[in-house]
Amino acid sequence: MKTIMLGNQAIARGAYEAGVTVAVAYPGTPSTEITEFVAGYDDIYAEWSPNEKVAMEVALGSAMAGARTMVSMKHVGVNVAADPLFTASYTGINGGLVICTADDPGMHSSQNEQDSRYYARAAHIPMLEPADSNEALSYMKRAFDISEAYDTPVFIRLTTRISHSQSIVQLNEREVVELKPYEKNIEKNVMMPLYARPKHIIVEKRMNQLAEDASTFTDLNTVEMKDTKVGIITSGVPYQYVKEVMPDASVLKLGMVHPLPKKLIEDFASKVDRLYIVEELEPIFEEQIKAWGIKVIGKEIFTVQGEYSANMIEERILGKELELRDAEKLPGRPPVLCPGCPHRGIYYVLKKLKIHATGDIGCYTLGALPPLEGIDTCVCMGGGVSMLHGVEKARGKEFIKKWVGIVGDSTFVHSGITGLVDIVYNKGISTVMILDNSTTGMTGHQENPTTGRNLKGEEVPVLNLVALCKAVGIHHVRVVNPFKPKEVEVALKEETNREEPSVIIASAPCELLDKKKKRIPLYVNQETCRKCNMCMKIGCPAIQKKDGNIIINDALCVGCNLCTKVCPFGAIEKGE
Ligand code: SF4
Ligand code: SF4
Repeated sequence: MKTIMLGNQAIARGAYEAGVTVAVAYPGTPSTEITEFVAGYDDIYAEWSPNEKVAMEVALGSAMAGARTMVSMKHVGVNVAADPLFTASYTGINGGLVICTADDPGMHSSQNEQDSRYYARAAHIPMLEPADSNEALSYMKRAFDISEAYDTPVFIRLTTRISHSQSIVQLNEREVVELKPYEKNIEKNVMMPLYARPKHIIVEKRMNQLAEDASTFTDLNTVEMKDTKVGIITSGVPYQYVKEVMPDASVLKLGMVHPLPKKLIEDFASKVDRLYIVEELEPIFEEQIKAWGIKVIGKEIFTVQGEYSANMIEERILGKELELRDAEKLPGRPPVLCPGCPHRGIYYVLKKLKIHATGDIGCYTLGALPPLEGIDTCVCMGGGVSMLHGVEKARGKEFIKKWVGIVGDSTFVHSGITGLVDIVYNKGISTVMILDNSTTGMTGHQENPTTGRNLKGEEVPVLNLVALCKAVGIHHVRVVNPFKPKEVEVALKEETNREEPSVIIASAPCELLDKKKKRIPLYVNQETCRKCNMCMKIGCPAIQKKDGNIIINDALCVGCNLCTKVCPFGAIEKGE
């Protein structure tokens, strides 16, 4: 049967058909839906882990125990998982293990543009890269075969365009895969130097064998010989652009992007007059192929930044001058905190008190934008806590009294907790704010250990953040309502002036969680309004200026009442 599927959905289907029984992940755009779709299959145990390192370790344990297992994350999540990942190539697997990583060229929802193919090379792990949803499905099954045949984890690399585009897929029955027997084997699974040294030799032999065999993987690495004046080596979504623009060119499409099929590439290169490499992000094919003495044209005409397009290929290879509309002339539409977002009140107070903040990754990162301008930094998950400690150690105790660290509930569990331990252990006095909106908001409302539900929707114990903070040695933990700016202000003044570390938990659910909630918009009484603009300072998209008046757009307002707390003249009133 054929149907249309998102790339991420096809990955999940591929896992199902491949007989996967355990799937683990931490959400992160563009990979999140993989695990949400997997959770829909009753035959697969699926979970959100607290972070990618935990997910990778759970997956490795499951594979060692004999189950076909998948683990999914976005590209920066691989950084978090890197520790077990690198050694997983040494231990190898028992049941097959596939690691799905989704890169984000163009940074649609990421803090950097790193290329996961570097991880495949650095960790000596083979990597497949599909070019559409059907390949996403079939490559999953192929990846498990390779994993078990070569005793190695296998990467599947996706990019945003593959993850979030739809195309036709061929569905098949689920393969019945029995659990592999588990046998204790310390030489294989205990990676101390004694056993790791010989394993490194095995890893190198395995990769050399795979590089040799890759030239025979004609289902993955395909040659389309046509006009031999121009040859193109490409993979993933750029393959689709090449085919659209240059249907008559000869193409070597790499489905296995690590290790590269050297013989196949040498043979292809010998048959074409001019050879181009079309690869988004880093020159990973290009550098290897050039090192083999093959002349190619790559990054001298292409960029290492952002997504490619058919237009770009038409311009750079065919030399066409295209008349393209300049996207920069369109009005900018930066993302903003939603109307009714509980984070808004916190940033309003921080700005009022002139308090700086080390920020983190989540919806609350949007508080960096005007008019709130509530955070000074945003680097990585958990960094909002640990970086604060660094600021304190660099500038001293008085300086840090005008700073806080901002972290979300899911991010605190992900990797903020260790930064808090560091603050206590190393005698910091910093104040951390956990913006607890009872969900993993930015990636689309996934459950986490603080929400009381798991990925399958079952009720589970709620992680008590107050008790957790106290348990690591924070004596001053208080919970505030972010819709009460005065309460927040009092808490911030008291906690930041302590000679001890403290935590303020701003607790209110994400506005979008309760879809049945009755929302009564407010309005501005134009007779009472003095046009002081105080309400504009909270940056709510529902508060707008029209014909010189301040108005509330009742299509956007959710009636959270925050603006009534900042209007000094009581001009904002409840509607009917
Ligand atoms: S206009 Fe006021 S009540 Fe309405 S959503 Fe914005 S802050 Fe909340
Ligand atoms: S804060 Fe109140 S008085 Fe000032 S502009 Fe807004 S609605 Fe008018």
